[in-house]
Amino acid sequence: MCLLAKVKNLPVDTGVSGWDAILPEKSPAQVLADDQACDFLIIGAGFAGLSAARRLEQLKPEAKIIVLDAKRIAEGPAGRNSGFMIDLPHDLSSSDYSTDENNDLRQIKLNRHAIDFATDVALEYKLPSEVLNICGKVNGAAGEKAHQHNLNYAKHLKTLGEPHQLLDAQEMKKLTGSKFYQSGIFTPGTAMLQPALYIRELAKGLRNSLFIYENSPVHELAKTNDKWLAKTPTGSVHASKVILATNGHIESFGHFKRRLVHVILYASMTRALSQGEADLTGKDIWGITPSDPAATTMRKISGTGGTRIITRNRISYSGNMQINQSLLNEMGKTHVKSFTKRYPDLTNVEQEYLWAGRLCLSRNGVSAFGEIEKGLYSACCQNGLGAARGTLSGIAAAELAVEGQTELAKAFLAEDEPQKLPPAPFSTIGAKAYMRWSEHKARFEI
Ligand SMILES: Cc1cc2nc3c(=O)[nH]c(=O)nc-3n(C[C@H](O)[C@H](O)[C@H](O)COP(=O)(O)OP(=O)(O)OC[C@H]3O[C@@H](n4cnc5c(N)ncnc54)[C@H](O)[C@@H]3O)c2cc1C
Repeated sequence: MCLLAKVKNLPVDTGVSGWDAILPEKSPAQVLADDQACDFLIIGAGFAGLSAARRLEQLKPEAKIIVLDAKRIAEGPAGRNSGFMIDLPHDLSSSDYSTDENNDLRQIKLNRHAIDFATDVALEYKLPSEVLNICGKVNGAAGEKAHQHNLNYAKHLKTLGEPHQLLDAQEMKKLTGSKFYQSGIFTPGTAMLQPALYIRELAKGLRNSLFIYENSPVHELAKTNDKWLAKTPTGSVHASKVILATNGHIESFGHFKRRLVHVILYASMTRALSQGEADLTGKDIWGITPSDPAATTMRKISGTGGTRIITRNRISYSGNMQINQSLLNEMGKTHVKSFTKRYPDLTNVEQEYLWAGRLCLSRNGVSAFGEIEKGLYSACCQNGLGAARGTLSGIAAAELAVEGQTELAKAFLAEDEPQKLPPAPFSTIGAKAYMRWSEHKARFEI
């Protein structure tokens, strides 16, 4: 037996995600408790892992498929993000999300493939619109500079032939109830997810035909002859093929070391608003991404758990992918300020939940994808667009493992490898400085 990885750094999710907490209580976790064998093992049950599982099930209905996650379903990043499954270019390192025209057109086509895939999930499992709703989003701008970003973005969307509508301050007030925004660009193609509910429902549907074990962290991965052996504290799985869908934690398995940038994002969710309070926050549901990527994302939801507002801002670098509660509390203070700036009449509305989550980037904005050893596949590093990109990389990894180089797999394989980072401490200092600088530039929009 050849031991390939002892996984010492396991995922830690700090803070309770409101998305999961407002849902009905879960049944007890099914933990891997014995030694099993299967055709395909997927490690990680986020967007990438569960999409890979669904695609494998479509391609190989007779195969035995097992999914292992270190934590409970929907408690990891896939269930604790802001739920924007975005169809349009969303390059976080650019000042207005766009790159060059050809790349953007290619990306839009791919992102829409992910949205179609998620829409099929919603249709097959008869999920209500609060789980997935292709209702579009708005890029909001408070100041002149951000408004200019929006105008540039609008020009770019015109070149791409993408429908969009410019909103003025009055229209933004009608939408959000807030006087904070001076302008916005509405684009209709983004699917808005209740991310924890989507992940829960996808896992629930998949459980009819495959095995998902939670609280089952893989702490060892080894190769025995032509099989892989994954060990958890309470069991093990022998598999012919393994897909690693652990996003940044692929580094904990010894792959793509010093090529991935690990950042933490932070979000808060208010308590349920009363009808009077809800009336001050505009239409029933909306989603605002900031016109400057380093500023504030905000959403209003109305469904299970009542009417609530979710605020997401602040970013920090964390080489070990963990953060402590005191930093989380510090970031939460900015959420309160951002909420108050937008809703000065709602200062009595507390933020009921505050949480942090991991995100994985590469310097050159590419995924960590492919067959990294014989029978071992990676569907990781989603570069901030994990709802769409995670879904796509999971589908593509499943296709690569079964059918070889399909059109989608080829699109990922055509990308360069994630670029090497400068040696520590330069990479850490550089990443932290870049994040502080980006936030400083966007401070009026936060
Ligand atoms: C606050 C916040 C807001 C965000 N907003 C958005 C947004 O609006 N739109 C968007 O597209 N993206 C957003 N993101 C990013 C998005 O959440 C991630 O990119 C996405 O979750 C990545 O999906 P994934 O399946 O690749 O990885 P993850 O969702 O990270 O799933 C990986 C899974 O692997 C498991 N795992 C790791 N190691 C092991 C191990 N050793 N054994 C077993 N299991 C393991 C983890 O427990 C985890 O469940 C946001 C992120 C945060 C934190």
